[in-house]
Amino acid sequence: MKRHIRHIVVHSTATFDPKVSQFYGDFHYVVERSGEIKKIHSENDIIKNIPAVDNEAIHVAYAGGRNKTGNLGDTRTPVQEEALFNKLLVLSIKYPAAVIIGHSDLEAAVPCPGFSVKEWIKNYEPDIAVA
Ligand SMILES: [Zn+2]
Repeated sequence: MKRHIRHIVVHSTATFDPKVSQFYGDFHYVVERSGEIKKIHSENDIIKNIPAVDNEAIHVAYAGGRNKTGNLGDTRTPVQEEALFNKLLVLSIKYPAAVIIGHSDLEAAVPCPGFSVKEWIKNYEPDIAVA
């Protein structure tokens, strides 16, 4: 059965070392530091991550979110940022009733994804070549 998606939630995996095998089970998609997008679960699957919205949510994470010293923050590479933006764009077209929102906008106590999704989307300038 097709799910009714109302939230496209942006996360980080809250991990540092890109060489260590990461647990991606909490997300539908994970965007690697290289910009590669990994599909972890079908969009029709309900993934347990944020109980208040899981039934109507797609969870998308970028790999990272933790720096060398262990602190949480924005660690996205430029290609990762672009790939994440493009994936969110595709999902928002596929699910027009959904809003794109950061994890911390739904659960204020959780410092995920490490940046303001709203400010980022508002200010992001796609690198599009115009002749
Ligand atoms: Zn999160």
